[in-house]
Amino acid sequence: MVMAYLLPRLQSLKKSLLELLFEVGAFAYAGVCGLIAAQCMVLNAPSSVQTLTVANAMSYGAAMASRNAGRPAIAIGQLVLAAGPVIIAGAISPDLAHRVLAGITALFLPAMISISVSIFEVMRTSIAAAETSTRLAEKMQLLARTDVVTGLYNRAGLNHHLVERLMRLQGNRKFALFWLDLDRFKEVNDTLGHPVGDRVLSEIATRLRKQCPPDATIARFGGDEFIIACETDSRGELETLAASLLEAITQPIRIDGDRLQIHSSMGIAMMPDDGNDIDSLMQGADLALYHSKVNGRNQFSFFDPSMTRDLVRRREIESELRLAIQREELSIYFQPIVDLGTGRIRSFEALVRWFHPEKGELKPDEFIPVAEETGVIITLGNWITAQAAKTAAQWPEDVTLCVNLSPLQLRAPGAALGILGAIREAGLKPSRLELEITESVFLEADETTDNFIRQLAAEGVRFALDDFGTGYSSLGYLDKYPFSKIKIDRSFVSGLDVGRKSDAIIRAVAEMANTLEMEIVAEGLETVEQVRAVRAAGCTLGQGYYFSRAVPDYLAALLLVQEHEGARRLTA
Ligand code: C2E
Ligand code: CA
Ligand code: CA
Repeated sequence: MVMAYLLPRLQSLKKSLLELLFEVGAFAYAGVCGLIAAQCMVLNAPSSVQTLTVANAMSYGAAMASRNAGRPAIAIGQLVLAAGPVIIAGAISPDLAHRVLAGITALFLPAMISISVSIFEVMRTSIAAAETSTRLAEKMQLLARTDVVTGLYNRAGLNHHLVERLMRLQGNRKFALFWLDLDRFKEVNDTLGHPVGDRVLSEIATRLRKQCPPDATIARFGGDEFIIACETDSRGELETLAASLLEAITQPIRIDGDRLQIHSSMGIAMMPDDGNDIDSLMQGADLALYHSKVNGRNQFSFFDPSMTRDLVRRREIESELRLAIQREELSIYFQPIVDLGTGRIRSFEALVRWFHPEKGELKPDEFIPVAEETGVIITLGNWITAQAAKTAAQWPEDVTLCVNLSPLQLRAPGAALGILGAIREAGLKPSRLELEITESVFLEADETTDNFIRQLAAEGVRFALDDFGTGYSSLGYLDKYPFSKIKIDRSFVSGLDVGRKSDAIIRAVAEMANTLEMEIVAEGLETVEQVRAVRAAGCTLGQGYYFSRAVPDYLAALLLVQEHEGARRLTA
């Protein structure tokens, strides 16, 4: 502690002492040169000696005037001390030669002084210019490494800082990387505009700064992604930080009277546990982030080697999905949607199944997102509609078919005509087809979306809003598009959210649907209590394991036959 205080002071004392010693030495040497020359003149030493000593004093003075021009006081001092005695000795000497010498030297003195002053000026301006350009270069570099919206580092800044941090990393400390992605941020941009989106990002950045340790590196990694890098001693410390970050981001943001709530997903990887270089750390955090997203978002995950296996599996699914249709590994199952008043089956929802020869049954939740990402969903979707329509054409006239439609499908060229063609070929009337779409369709809604819906609606095809309550839930869509049904997401019925709050939401949605003359379906009904509760809340239709799981076409037909024969009603 004491040393830390004393050391810099001792060093600066040493520096000024050396400086003084240099000045004294310089002046003394110049003075001695001048005095020797003057002495030789006064004593009238042999002319060769006088010439030598005077020449020595003058050339030393001249040389020093330019060498020390950076410090003009020393340069001029040395010049005066070297030349002064010669001028004085010459001026008082009766010898004409000495007097001429004194005169020449007296003229030489101001000339040399002016030279050293101008050298000094030139040096000063060029040093100033160099300093300005260094400062400018530093500023430009800082700008190139900063994100303008948030003031955080950008991608380039992050890379630079990560390299620096890793070089400084000490002994057994761990180095953690957080990869953060705001959930559904695109919706904010799309519905409220980019300027609002930017303000949200900037607010999030402020919150991140507040929560992170002061020495953490925080960067905006493009779009709505952020990266935080910090050192730590334990995983527990990181868990606390991750939880506090999620919590801080979730706090409502007020912008121009709007109250926004943003959630985020997070992936965390650590060095040396998950990798020994930045690339593997980034890869780990990215995989962990992906894991958080697929598991329902608004959470954090630490990297785990199994995630790499998941990625491999995903890649396999991606490559095998195209072949699955040709190999007839896919089939369509049907889950009844039941009238809660009468217990009769009103429709069946077509749900695709993949029976893989080696991997066994694959869940649509696993392969549909892959199909969407790769665009295979268009081929797959057409196939599903055509197959399901063929089955549905065999059912009684009053039983309808519900088919799920991915956003990409309805934007594909000729999508509406494709669907109409498929049902015509199967012999299914358009009014018996209901397309289930989620709110995500409307995030990028444009003319294509509108035309698709209007064209099919004009033919009599109906639309249902699927998974209601999980997305942005803007009621504007309900007004704008001709929905005949709202399907309340199963998380409200059987998920974690179940309780008084979700009951109130179901009631409100049911009431609204009633007013708009839409039907309301409760999804995921598994128990008789749930069936009774949603019916009491105003839902008109129900779907779920309580009634039946999704079954192959022949079992769906059997359910209809049993119902027709009055043998069985799916009532509660
Ligand atoms: P979704 O449209 O919400 O379909 C309902 C899902 O809930 C189905 O899962 C169904 O089996 C399941 N489910 C029904 N009743 C219950 C219940 O009582 N409890 C529980 N826990 N679950 C129940 P599935 O078949 O695994 O499909 C998952 C999702 O995959 C679907 O969600 C849909 O988004 C997508 N999907 C399925 N088939 C297709 C398809 O043919 N095309 C497209 N584009 N997406 C599909
Ligand atoms: Ca559905
Ligand atoms: Ca659904």
